[in-house]
Amino acid sequence: MEAGREGQAFTYANPDGLSVGVGDLVQVPLQGRRHAGLVLACLQTLPEDLAGKRMRAVEAVLQSAAVADAWQDLLLAVAEACHTSRFRTLKSALPPGWLGQRPRAPAGRLLCQISRVAPQVAAPVDPQLELSPRQRALLAHLDGHGGRRLLRDLLAADGFGRGLITALEAKGLVRRETVRGVPATRTAPLGLPPAPPRPLEAPRIANAAQAAAVEAIDSAAAGSTLLLWGVTGAGKTEVYLQAAARQLQQGRSVLLLAPEIGLIPQLLDRCRARLGPQVLEYHSGMGDAERVKAWRRCLDAAAAAEPLVAIGTRSAIFLPLAPLGLIVLDEEHDSSYKQESPMPCYHARDVAQRRASLDGARLVLGSATPSLETWLRCRQPQGEGGVQLLRLPERIGQRPLPPVRVVDMRLEFAEGHRRLISRPLMGRLQQLQARGEQAVVLVPRRGYRSFLSCRSCGEAVQCPNCDVALTVHRRNASAGSATEWLRCHWCDHRQEIAQRCGQCGSTAFKPFGAGTQRVMEQLAAELEGLRLLRFDQDTTRGRDGHRRLLERFAAGEADVLVGTQMLAKGMDLPRVTLAAVLAADGLLHRPDLRSSEHCLQLLLQLAGRAGRGELPGEVLVQTYSPDHPVIRYLVDGRYERFLEEELQLRRQGGLVPFSRACLLRLAGPSASATATAATTLVERVRAEVERQGWLVIGPAPAPVAKVAGRSRWQVLLHGPAATALPLPPEAELRRMLPPNVSLAIDPDPLQL
Ligand code: ADP
Ligand code: ZN
Ligand code: ZN
Repeated sequence: MEAGREGQAFTYANPDGLSVGVGDLVQVPLQGRRHAGLVLACLQTLPEDLAGKRMRAVEAVLQSAAVADAWQDLLLAVAEACHTSRFRTLKSALPPGWLGQRPRAPAGRLLCQISRVAPQVAAPVDPQLELSPRQRALLAHLDGHGGRRLLRDLLAADGFGRGLITALEAKGLVRRETVRGVPATRTAPLGLPPAPPRPLEAPRIANAAQAAAVEAIDSAAAGSTLLLWGVTGAGKTEVYLQAAARQLQQGRSVLLLAPEIGLIPQLLDRCRARLGPQVLEYHSGMGDAERVKAWRRCLDAAAAAEPLVAIGTRSAIFLPLAPLGLIVLDEEHDSSYKQESPMPCYHARDVAQRRASLDGARLVLGSATPSLETWLRCRQPQGEGGVQLLRLPERIGQRPLPPVRVVDMRLEFAEGHRRLISRPLMGRLQQLQARGEQAVVLVPRRGYRSFLSCRSCGEAVQCPNCDVALTVHRRNASAGSATEWLRCHWCDHRQEIAQRCGQCGSTAFKPFGAGTQRVMEQLAAELEGLRLLRFDQDTTRGRDGHRRLLERFAAGEADVLVGTQMLAKGMDLPRVTLAAVLAADGLLHRPDLRSSEHCLQLLLQLAGRAGRGELPGEVLVQTYSPDHPVIRYLVDGRYERFLEEELQLRRQGGLVPFSRACLLRLAGPSASATATAATTLVERVRAEVERQGWLVIGPAPAPVAKVAGRSRWQVLLHGPAATALPLPPEAELRRMLPPNVSLAIDPDPLQL
């Protein structure tokens, strides 16, 4: 049998006669350490090159049938598409910590145990029976441990040999059995929840568009993809729930993906209330053991042909649900679905696509602002990668979409109002309390100030480890006094506010830009009595951080929620009537192919938070560039028009998705070492890349050229759409690099 590590397969013996099959997760020794590996094949005869070689043995089966055959097909397809090894892909796909080096015994794994055969069956050591002193010692040892001991402890800790155990076994004095390593807390049997089941909430009465969408999903061909394009507040979730319920009735499981952990609790609550206890979660906010447990629950349910609903973030796309009837990717345009590192650099949407066709499931992509890629596929014939378009054109209850008002900050300035918060925004915020309404205010950055710059030489105070400016953070201690310090948002380095400029020695600094903390402070200063809550990475830490904060806001603890981009996503609060953006400019001018698309998506999503209930909503955008095309599309609310024009531009320019890009990211100990490595790599592959009709651009320093002390360079490859990457296998590329330079291959990078 074989087990993989870093893309290699190894062969192991199975002298203990453990019951091992393809797809099992087993524990094996490797280079003096204990590893978990996946069984790729079981060999009855040894291949010639291994004949006569000494082989290490499989120590235990950790999980039998951890993955199914069909699942391995998915894995292989993803590994190939992402130009990486099956092992790396496996490592990303399985619950973290399951594969690879194993420091200690996790709960509930299967181990081989040696136990004394009960004395009444085989009398205590019979003097007639010929036993060697070592054999006697082993039996005495076992008796000293209550008659049983794990095989691996007998071998490793106690120093007994395998032959000894086999001999005693042959004499009927001991036997081997499989046990769970550490008594696992028993999960309730499937279908029998521990608490008495709550009565399920009844489905809402679907409106015509919702009903049509549910029907279309239900009758869609296996393996097909549908785009559910509903404006914000159109009731997409209701469609997912009704479509999911139909799959469950037919005995098929459902996978529901959300782009961020923060969105999971709300979805989970809604699904459990409607679909019952067979709903499980899977995301990076859970501990490793919990994720293994969720994985096992999927395996058990698949074996028992019991349908489940799994809700999770991108890695949940690999959960071993079977048979799978429906995959939903909510907010399909969201870039969090893309894994940037480690390899494989996969997009959950692409994996979902493959999985839907392999498993015969339907894939529903849901969004109010679909990605350009998906929109393009809506215009292709179905069956040729085409996507069926389902529209929910109106909000529930025919509520209007909120109008967008642009505040030209240049005018505010010209009129002598030099504040962070414009007069129109102030006016709206002042009315909130009297009307019993709430607002969300988006600030592009967390922290207090974006950066500090030196008053004499103009240099920004930089992180010592990264090529980025440090952000000022602040803590209000007692009344009036506050401590400030600097923090890096890339490597989390923290330091005191610098006493002297590293460049010129000056001691005077000027702060620039406002983060969420400063906006809170300004709002509190200008609008007395306005109650505020901050919603950013710093205030939503922990498993339930998002949920707790949103619950407080929903309960009316505050009038305004000030937060970063996570504000824009998914929140459904009826009393929110105002969505404001403080400095849209920070989002507009980003040097990236997709920056317009992503910015417009974000702003429309934010706008979608306002006016979802009975009360009409409004959107207010503060900007210095009111004529920016993105702002114009936002005001007109014509997202489809934007997509069409953007597609046109991309087609004319021969840009993605009308061509293909691949990014090679290198990181090394110094700029020169990394640059040299990148140049060498390019020299080695250039001829073949160009021969296949691709272009090599670079190497060049990455946009952030240093992170956490590692220098980063990149090489961009550009080629015709729908062609294979013109690169040798990953392992070969790695061999072209010194060991201290790392490489990531991103076959379809989101950021260019
Ligand atoms: P979306 O995900 O499209 O932004 P949601 O699914 O969150 O919208 O729905 C918006 C609100 O409308 C939710 O509060 C939901 O409970 C409610 N809703 C959805 N469908 C219906 C319906 N058919 N009848 C009444 N209310 C509905
Ligand atoms: Zn200076
Ligand atoms: Zn840093």
